[in-house]
Amino acid sequence: MKKADIETAPCSECGGRLEKKYISQEFEREGLKVKLLGIAALVCSKCREIYFQPGGADKVAEAANSLFRLAQAEKQHKHGLTAQLCRA
Ligand SMILES: [Zn+2]
Repeated sequence: MKKADIETAPCSECGGRLEKKYISQEFEREGLKVKLLGIAALVCSKCREIYFQPGGADKVAEAANSLFRLAQAEKQHKHGLTAQLCRA
């Protein structure tokens, strides 16, 4: 997971073109698993490296942290928690 400074910058790994995609990310911590779906990110069309807008990776991590707290509070250990981002 890397950060891209500008949307039109090529992939820093292979120089490939970055495409805007909606991705899903899974996080696992202390036996709990949470999943975020529909995160807007830039994905290299060649090597599939994932780039977020500046600050975007931090926000995704924050969202995952919130989900972990929810999962612990609601004792949803046995299920795993999924959050989906939707456009209104
Ligand atoms: Zn690449």
